[in-house]
Amino acid sequence: MQGMTKRERQITDQQHLAQILDGGKVLHLGLAVDNEPYVVPMNYGYTLENGKLVLYLHSALRGKKLDMLRKNPRVFFEIDWDLKPFEGKKPCQYGVAYSSVMGIGTARIVENAEEKIEAMSILMKTQTGKDFSFNEELVSIVAVIRIDVDEYTAKHRPVPEKLR
Ligand SMILES: Cc1cc2nc3c(=O)[nH]c(=O)nc-3n(C[C@H](O)[C@H](O)[C@H](O)COP(=O)(O)OP(=O)(O)OC[C@H]3O[C@@H](n4cnc5c(N)ncnc54)[C@H](O)[C@@H]3O)c2cc1C
Repeated sequence: MQGMTKRERQITDQQHLAQILDGGKVLHLGLAVDNEPYVVPMNYGYTLENGKLVLYLHSALRGKKLDMLRKNPRVFFEIDWDLKPFEGKKPCQYGVAYSSVMGIGTARIVENAEEKIEAMSILMKTQTGKDFSFNEELVSIVAVIRIDVDEYTAKHRPVPEKLR
């Protein structure tokens, strides 16, 4: 992967990837319209099947991110997990160990009630580990966004060996 330094490792193992996606809980969603970038933190749900990653988000029915999505559905995202700050003797020896995933995809505002119900169950499963059921009335008060991820990369920066 371009941009990997010696202290970082690319994650290719799907189990490690799923651990990050299960543990992260918060996704930073990047949008851009007319050369104006916008990043917004959000909770998410995901499915990962045969390497194909789909993300689900929910929100109020109105707001800036939805306005931007309607104008440009191409989005970028970042999720990080297992942050472990570590110290050293010199300033440059301080750091944070982490695992993270980021990628690019196309977002769509889900209108179909059945699809919204399924998306909300997936989101709650990722967020809580529990199974919740929804009905049409419950999902009518939220906007649901589906992101079909085209490309993603994941990486891990461990705590330096001498500090473990
Ligand atoms: C950990 C975390 C998890 C969240 N999970 C969700 C989620 O699952 N779904 C969801 O809809 N929202 C979530 N939020 C809130 C989210 O970040 C936005 O505040 C919210 O979605 C409104 O976004 P909007 O683009 O519609 O902004 P609008 O309500 O249209 O607000 C417009 C302006 O308000 C300011 N603003 C908006 N959001 C923030 C913010 N978070 N911090 C500072 N200023 C802000 C910006 O300047 C923006 O231009 C979460 C926030 C945090 C911190």
